[in-house]
Amino acid sequence: MSARTKPAWMSREHEIFQDTTRKFFAAELTPNIERWRAQGMVDRAFWPKAAEFGLLGATAPEEWGGAGADRGYDVIIAYEQTRAGDTGWGWSVHNICLHYILAYGTAEQQARWVPRLISGEIIPAIAMTEPGTGSDLQSIQTTAIQDGSDYRLSGSKIFVSNGQSANLIIVAAKTDPQARARGISLIGVETDATGGFSRGRNLAKIGMKGQDTSELFFDQVRVPRANLLGGQEGRGFSQLMSQLAWERLVIGVLAVGAMDAMLAETLTHVRQRKAFDQRLMDFQNSRFKLAEAKTKLEVTRSFIDDCVARLLAGNLDAPTASMAKWWGSQMQCEVADECLQLFGGYGYMLEYPIAHFYADARVQKIFGGTNEIQKELIARSLDT
Ligand SMILES: Cc1cc2nc3c(=O)[nH]c(=O)nc-3n(C[C@H](O)[C@H](O)[C@H](O)COP(=O)(O)OP(=O)(O)OC[C@H]3O[C@@H](n4cnc5c(N)ncnc54)[C@H](O)[C@@H]3O)c2cc1C
Repeated sequence: MSARTKPAWMSREHEIFQDTTRKFFAAELTPNIERWRAQGMVDRAFWPKAAEFGLLGATAPEEWGGAGADRGYDVIIAYEQTRAGDTGWGWSVHNICLHYILAYGTAEQQARWVPRLISGEIIPAIAMTEPGTGSDLQSIQTTAIQDGSDYRLSGSKIFVSNGQSANLIIVAAKTDPQARARGISLIGVETDATGGFSRGRNLAKIGMKGQDTSELFFDQVRVPRANLLGGQEGRGFSQLMSQLAWERLVIGVLAVGAMDAMLAETLTHVRQRKAFDQRLMDFQNSRFKLAEAKTKLEVTRSFIDDCVARLLAGNLDAPTASMAKWWGSQMQCEVADECLQLFGGYGYMLEYPIAHFYADARVQKIFGGTNEIQKELIARSLDT
């Protein structure tokens, strides 16, 4: 993942993949970022393009059309996307949903959904958060009540990434409304075949403007029981929890990619711009701030690379992944703030990429479980 030296977990094949992915993003993603921000979502046509390049199924089994590669390839995609300055394309949500289905889906669900996820025909979303509850997932109110061979799904969700474009939404709902965690199930809603489903606003955000993040409404939506992920009720909460280490590590990876890009942008600026007859780079304050930013970046990179190595060895534990999430996002926000400051007034202008990096960074401390929740989880592991 390193911009400078190759981490121990990276093979020659990883490096080649990183190089070609960077070129693909430079040609197909970077030129569209501004337009996607303006329209509030990426072009649907980008998904099959990315699929053709191999970005949607790199780590899915070959039997379903994937490349069967290790998760290091997913790390590279996440890193390169954010390093390219894009936060619009909902690749990481796609990747999370794909791996839910691979890990828990029945053979029939995998055959029905995985090949179409890998080809870019299905754009997925995961809908857990509700207007009344986010951190306290066990308190969700959305219900899925059995009705013959169907469920009737009722409730509303909010802040759903890919919410406007998704055509397969994995919904967390209570199949047993009296129970807390054990009452939760995950149900795949195919939006094209479903009455009673509607999308709310594409929410206006302070950053991530190219990402469609939405409200979703379910009014007695009929969903076949065959869409219950894994086929057994009450498993949803533990299914969500057992994928969290990856989801949290990815946020740390995104942070490293963003910090690499912000630092490069800022160095270019401070070497060019002058004040009081000298380069901004020559002020001791600028030098110290940049030295601090670089140190934060490299310390974070080392830890995240270590987490990736643990993941690949199959022993990344949940508290360590929580550390990767909160630490990475915290450093990203601090570096964004200091880098923006070195741009002066230009840093506040949206025509400068640093302004977008700053605005995009903030949500990293909120989604994927807030940083307060991560600290709570780490603390719990210290008190056993
Ligand atoms: C851009 C964006 C994209 C998102 N994408 C998705 C998505 O695709 N799917 C999805 O389901 N959700 C998504 N979310 C929702 C996100 O995961 C939640 O916003 C997040 O989990 C926090 O929940 P909340 O907003 O309800 O805040 P709350 O849970 O109300 O928290 C408010 C504050 O209270 C603090 N707090 C809560 N509980 C505790 C506690 N026990 N101890 C200490 N402090 C606590 C929190 O840390 C926070 O500071 C997205 C959010 C955003 C902004």
